[in-house]
Amino acid sequence: MRAAILGGDKRMLYAAKAFSDDGFDVSISGFDRLCSMCDIEILNAPEAVLKADILVLPVRPCDGESLNAPSCAEKIKLSELSSLSGSKPIFTGCSDRMKEYFSGNIYDYSKREDFAVRNAVLTAEGALELLMREYERSIFASRALVLGYGRIGKVLSRYLRSLGADVTVAARKSSARIWAEIDGMKTLDYSFKELKEFHIIFNTVPSPVLGAAIIDTLDDDAFIIDLASLPGGVDFHRAKGRGLSCIHALGLPGKCAPMAAGKIIEETICNIIKEENGGKDNFGLCDDRLLLHL
Ligand code: NAP
Repeated sequence: MRAAILGGDKRMLYAAKAFSDDGFDVSISGFDRLCSMCDIEILNAPEAVLKADILVLPVRPCDGESLNAPSCAEKIKLSELSSLSGSKPIFTGCSDRMKEYFSGNIYDYSKREDFAVRNAVLTAEGALELLMREYERSIFASRALVLGYGRIGKVLSRYLRSLGADVTVAARKSSARIWAEIDGMKTLDYSFKELKEFHIIFNTVPSPVLGAAIIDTLDDDAFIIDLASLPGGVDFHRAKGRGLSCIHALGLPGKCAPMAAGKIIEETICNIIKEENGGKDNFGLCDDRLLLHL
């Protein structure tokens, strides 16, 4: 089976390597300065699409009407790829806009729990790395607040606690707050009127939970990292206006652990293929009958 890896950042190079290590034939496209890469063929995008059995797109697949390919100077139009892809299966993140372009089955690996949980671990590690680099006090004995107790919130609050921080978790569901307490955290709901006591605040909630009125109550030395996808959950304008340290840290898995992030993409796609093939992988065999369900 031949996979075409199209565009993306460094993690897609590692995803390509992982596919190759797992017995796929692999073509790659959308990286200008790549001259050779193990047994992987470097092709232009139309050739890669035509030759492949499956197409693999990045977590964020598009940049306007083009493929998201930051390492490629030339714009690769998605409409051009779609006209060549026929009914080939597409594996991509953030699939919603891809339906406009591709007629083959579209599998969104980023919506799967196996991807999201492992990606949350990398995000939490990246968030800690950023905190250690930019925060000028120690994490040990700091009072840290984590807004949200989903995948990232859970892993991050455990990491902070293991470094000796006094961790409080804000969660809207009482069940989430109970789990946080079982995990050794203090808890809050969102009825708080001020958050003056916290040195470090991480937001993981993709909704506006840290608005202007609450920001006005924060300590002058509060350090805020928003991890939620755009537009995030923090009123940055107000926070910057107050002179607070405030970072919207996005795409951490790709920036901080591209090798692990690429492997997670590859393993998630392999899981999808196995599930669609009734538990068999058959990756090394290029037999159309094995792709019946894809
Ligand atoms: P998740 O498991 O869905 O957790 C989200 C948390 O936010 C849950 O605790 C959820 O509570 C809470 N929440 C959602 N809407 C809320 C609201 N209106 N008010 C209060 N709480 C609310 O998501 P995740 O995997 O942890 O990801 C969190 C965010 O990080 C997402 O925006 C995701 O796209 C982003 N992300 C960022 C990076 C990065 O590099 N920065 C990497 C991966 C993902 P309930 O359980 O009550 O719904």
